[in-house]
Amino acid sequence: MKVSLASAMGTCFGVQDAINLAMSPEFSNELTIVGQLVHNPQVSESLKKNGVSLVPGVEEIDKIKTKKVMITAHGAADKTKKLLNSAGFTVYDASCPLVMRVHQTIKSMVNKGYFPVVIGQKDHVEVKGIVGDLDEYLVINNEDDFQKIHESGNRRLGIVTQTTQQRDKVEALVAKIRALDYVDDVAFVNTICQPTHDRQVAVHELADQVDLMIVIGGFNSSNTKKLVHVCDEKGIEAHHIESFDQLNKDWFINKQHVGITAGTSTPENVINEVHIKILDIAKEIENHTLLTS
Ligand code: SF4
Repeated sequence: MKVSLASAMGTCFGVQDAINLAMSPEFSNELTIVGQLVHNPQVSESLKKNGVSLVPGVEEIDKIKTKKVMITAHGAADKTKKLLNSAGFTVYDASCPLVMRVHQTIKSMVNKGYFPVVIGQKDHVEVKGIVGDLDEYLVINNEDDFQKIHESGNRRLGIVTQTTQQRDKVEALVAKIRALDYVDDVAFVNTICQPTHDRQVAVHELADQVDLMIVIGGFNSSNTKKLVHVCDEKGIEAHHIESFDQLNKDWFINKQHVGITAGTSTPENVINEVHIKILDIAKEIENHTLLTS
């Protein structure tokens, strides 16, 4: 059984910079992260071990016991940062610059008179941050949401995307929106980030060569789910796991070529553990086949 790694996978620079900042010794036991720094349980666990406190969101401001707080790589609305500042916290901002580019892009579209539309998941923390300072907006995820555009009565739309969306899906949606007879003008900026795009291209390429794909990342990680989706669309068996102990030997029986990929918040050591375990399983299956043949 051959095992191949995707040519681009794992932690992106935005997530790594945020983790490095949170792990900095100057914060020992004095930092609370507002929101999930990354969608990865192992990283959250090691942060807690380092004395970093976590609250799910600014709604739980009352539970923050430290003076210093951190905004995550997913970003936050200016409104949220101001709220924390005015409550007396020192705010460290680990927002990824590529998320901030989406904030700036949509605000500039609004200034030019476009009605803001975000393609993404409305409950995702990144999207909440993108729309958090806007008076009115729409978040759409698929064609079923076109009705919302119709009902809003807005004919001049400025569209951006959540950074972790799938390019093909976004382009198809935008083309359909342009064709709607109740829309006159569409300004679209593709704000999918480069690391997400690279991982999607890499999984596409690898999926063409393998008969099983193991996708590593937090179960609530949007970009990791998209990697699984690419495999599903290509009809390639894919299993989404968070750590090596979730691997099931039965998945590998009679497989010729296994691919491994990982979302943008999956640390290298987690990928390595999975890789080593898969090589062990491959050896075990090979030995068993030799003995029984
Ligand atoms: Fe930044 Fe993209 Fe990484 Fe999100 S996935 S933190 S936007 S580089």
